[in-house]
Amino acid sequence: MGAKVWDGNSNGPELKDIHISDGVFTDSPSLEAHTISAEGLTIIPGLIEAHAHLCFNGKEDWRAVYDNDTPSSMLLRMIDNSHKMLRAGITTVRDLGAPTDLAISLRDSIDQEVVSGPSLIVAGAPITPTGGHCYFMGGEADGELGVRVAVRERVRSGVDWIKVMASGGNMTPGTNVERAQYTQSEMRAIVEEAHRLGVRVTAHAHGVEGIRHALAGGVDMLEHCSFQTPDGSEPVPEVIQEIAETGTIVSPTIFGSLWGQENTQQYKKRATLTQDLIESGARMLMSTDCGIPHTPHENLSYSLEIMQNLSRLEPVEVLQLSTNRSAELLGLPDRGRIEPGLRADLVALSSDPTDNLSALREIEFVVCGGDQIPT
Ligand SMILES: [Zn+2]
Repeated sequence: MGAKVWDGNSNGPELKDIHISDGVFTDSPSLEAHTISAEGLTIIPGLIEAHAHLCFNGKEDWRAVYDNDTPSSMLLRMIDNSHKMLRAGITTVRDLGAPTDLAISLRDSIDQEVVSGPSLIVAGAPITPTGGHCYFMGGEADGELGVRVAVRERVRSGVDWIKVMASGGNMTPGTNVERAQYTQSEMRAIVEEAHRLGVRVTAHAHGVEGIRHALAGGVDMLEHCSFQTPDGSEPVPEVIQEIAETGTIVSPTIFGSLWGQENTQQYKKRATLTQDLIESGARMLMSTDCGIPHTPHENLSYSLEIMQNLSRLEPVEVLQLSTNRSAELLGLPDRGRIEPGLRADLVALSSDPTDNLSALREIEFVVCGGDQIPT
């Protein structure tokens, strides 16, 4: 009661009351309702993180910790990280890389209220060639037949998305971010198989070759899409145009390591690329790759501020990339806005983030699926 409410869609907040019943927003209070005063606070929809790794610790020693884990110690860290995210106002998390059985178990346990946590969307172990990026997660598959089997296995396990490593990655020595990891025909086989089974595909892709192969395969989304080239040359305009024309979604993974780096070449190149993608009309949502070094799970608010600087969007437009727009592009029509009938996910803040995104760090309380979370 008594709060300013930004519904996830409009240009700014307005004073109104919010009603919740059975985990969803409703038009009017239910009979047994209790009232929470939110006088002077600003309420926004729960935030959505589109690229997370709950199994990583967000620190330099991530790989040693990962390699020394037992399945149970890893699962406990995943639960702990999911709680950190929830307390930071993130009520939906898409996990794009964890051992498949652990990711599915945690998602289902949260859905069944065995443990508390944000709503999870999971891809399980990314599909990668033998020795390819993140091979240690157990997702190696080679050749058109091999990758088709890998897709079928994941769908049998119940994943929500297929994640494929289309280029090498910075975090796996021996792989090359500038080169494609799969042929175009392998990428096509992955997408064809996933779409036949009703699941969408997102591709980790840094260099231009990996992005091109992913586009040729017909993927639904590109992670990072950072256009890393051997000579640091500018992004290829025709590839950006193709991303926009095909409607391929860009999940830009704004890393914490960009914080305070405004004067570096890396930052300026990223700003140009972000603005070029937006100008081209490419569909974009917000993601951070949290769990990797310098990108703690609870720091989405910092990445949103970096995104505002990179993109020159208004705060309200940046917030949409983590609420309404993100839900739309991820295919989650039941969330992302404060509207009767939708999942009751919200964050109450002491000041208005549509004025200044730093307000996202002053959280008063979080509601996830209708339950108030202690912060
Ligand atoms: Zn990642």
